[in-house]
Amino acid sequence: MRNVIIVGSGCAGNTAAIYTARAGLKPLVVSGLEPGGQLSLTTEVENFPGFPETIQGPVLVENMKKQAERFGAEYAQGLVEEADLSRRPFRLRIDGQWEECRTLIIASGASARWLGLPNEQKLIGHGVSSCATCDGFFYRGKKIMVVGGGDSAMEEANFLTRFGEEVAIVHRRDEFRASKIMLERCRANPKIRWITSAVIEDVYDVEKGYVTGVKLRNVKTGETWVREVDGLFLAIGHIPNTKPFVGQIELDADGYIVSHGGARTSVAGVFHAGDVQDRVYRQAITAAGAGCMAAIEAERFLQAGGH
Ligand code: NAP
Repeated sequence: MRNVIIVGSGCAGNTAAIYTARAGLKPLVVSGLEPGGQLSLTTEVENFPGFPETIQGPVLVENMKKQAERFGAEYAQGLVEEADLSRRPFRLRIDGQWEECRTLIIASGASARWLGLPNEQKLIGHGVSSCATCDGFFYRGKKIMVVGGGDSAMEEANFLTRFGEEVAIVHRRDEFRASKIMLERCRANPKIRWITSAVIEDVYDVEKGYVTGVKLRNVKTGETWVREVDGLFLAIGHIPNTKPFVGQIELDADGYIVSHGGARTSVAGVFHAGDVQDRVYRQAITAAGAGCMAAIEAERFLQAGGH
């Protein structure tokens, strides 16, 4: 039986692993479908404190893993397929194998929703991004495109006008689900262009290894055309990775874990960390902080006799 199992190996999971390992709890970290989480999909990270010369996202997250392993954290490749959190010890089925634990830290993140185009996938981190806060800075004076019609798209587009020479919002309908205030802020921004009733059909240029443009199609007329762009930001939503926990802990309507204060969930002994609960900040540093909080709570729970 494990003292603690940590589900997810992004910033939140790795930080929880460092703290619980240093507390002598010998955590098991289940890496999940996207080992390293969203940082493993980025290139340069300039806003994680402590790296004045920038650091590559995959290197940063790999360093965290090494740091946790140095203190005795164990990593298992695998997916949590099913969970029974109805009693302690908690039980998780990981790749067909049941594991038991006294405490559980869910740091399984939220995956950015992508368009799913083959060339879009190949250019992630090379002009295609799902995080304006992380990558906007690299597009100073460049042509930027944001896809989506929700609040995230409006927020990101507005933010990106600080950097880009122009920011084009591409939305598949001509009505927006974004709140009125966010939409109006964008409408008032002279750097923003609007391309509505349009979808992206392809992203160029995989041969060059970076984004040079996209092929668009008007969904009403069928007309297609190519538009030059340097940075393509997807803001079409995130999907929290909570499927195995449905019906086990309280989740909100979109599947995010509902916090019961600090890192606590609706089940005593089960803690949350990072984007699986946080739909607002979604930063490496906030996820790391949340991982630390969850680890401290798990340690205190065990100390207080929770088992
Ligand atoms: P969202 O509200 O679900 O909007 C997603 C947008 O992406 C929609 O416009 C949707 O189009 C579009 N979309 C989805 N799949 C697509 C696809 N395959 N191809 C093209 N377009 C696609 O997501 P969100 O903007 O990330 O917001 C999530 C939640 O966080 C919302 O409750 C939002 O209010 C909140 N939020 C608030 C703030 C703020 O207040 N500061 C900032 C960000 C987010 P359709 O409209 O056609 O479905």
